[in-house]
Amino acid sequence: MLTLLSNADVYAPAPLGRRHVLVAGERVVAITEARPEIAGVPVEVVDLGGRRLIPGLVDAHVHVTGGGGEAGPETAAPAPFLSHYTMAGVTSVVGLLGTDDVTRTTAGLLRAVYGLRREGLSAWAWTGGYHLPPTTLTGAVRTDIATVEPILGFGELAISDHRSSQPTFDEVARLAADCHVGGLMTGKAGVLHLHLGDGARGLDLLRRLLDETEIPARTLHPTHVNRRSGLFDEALSITERGVTIDVTAFPPGSAADDEILAADAVVRFLESGLERQRLTVSSDGGGCLPQFDAGELVRMDFATSGALADLLADLLGRGVPLEDALPPFTLTPATALRLGGKGRIAEGGDADLVVLGDDDRPSDVMARGRWHVRDGQPVVRGTFE
Ligand SMILES: [Zn+2]
Repeated sequence: MLTLLSNADVYAPAPLGRRHVLVAGERVVAITEARPEIAGVPVEVVDLGGRRLIPGLVDAHVHVTGGGGEAGPETAAPAPFLSHYTMAGVTSVVGLLGTDDVTRTTAGLLRAVYGLRREGLSAWAWTGGYHLPPTTLTGAVRTDIATVEPILGFGELAISDHRSSQPTFDEVARLAADCHVGGLMTGKAGVLHLHLGDGARGLDLLRRLLDETEIPARTLHPTHVNRRSGLFDEALSITERGVTIDVTAFPPGSAADDEILAADAVVRFLESGLERQRLTVSSDGGGCLPQFDAGELVRMDFATSGALADLLADLLGRGVPLEDALPPFTLTPATALRLGGKGRIAEGGDADLVVLGDDDRPSDVMARGRWHVRDGQPVVRGTFE
């Protein structure tokens, strides 16, 4: 089956202008100025009438098994549903374990990743979790990366956090080396994705890794760097040494008092003059979100990739040009994580496509060539939705 998206205002993420985008199977096969003539085969034509077409978003930090559990066993969050991703325009996801790398396992994480793939998303995993010694599938981080196809590296290793294992410099250096070598052996990203807590040590360990070892800067991907302002200053300066930083789309009020809202962090980064390809954003979906009313816990909810759709709409509402706002959601994580065919609209690339509505939110979403959302409604649902 062919699908022709005609009269699309394409942001690839670079603005291409009005184009016709032809999809065959799971791929984009042509992007043309003149409308292509197609005869003799069935083709679904969708006239976008000049609406904006962007790449599917890449969310590299999601607790796809459900996360949480830090306020007692009843606060372990359930796994997000398929439409939590697709309604947000997220078509690629990297799943991970966090605080609970005891009752949640790498095997269970991989099962969730395979389930999302069968439901139509593109999905990968970080091995490990917050703690050392690491939770793995095979018993060794390097073996996991080298032999288990969806595993791209290690994450989220907690540092500068009271919930961490208080890993030493040598332990973190060894882990980063295992990621780097595992990546070399496979052509995968081989990245160490680091959870930053509120601790005053901030990015000390990362600076030492750059100063005292041969580990390439591209191996290190610190996340939650907007959780306090001093940490964000450190993160901006470490990008100058080649490290790509990750801002979390925390809902307002869920982090520390001097948290920097994700939209403020992205705007500050874009205005800083630093290299544009050093910033990614992710949702931390699957974690639990307590809702308070006048200091009373009234309801427990869980985060989803929807935070990324909110963040993109927020940025556009502030007047950030779409071509500047898009790369941290698309091309940059796809490049940093070596997800070939993802994060861009290109001939030969994957047909992960999002139509933005007038409200700057995803109205229609195609993942791997199949429509999942039409006119703001899910048309494909997860198994238990
Ligand atoms: Zn985290």
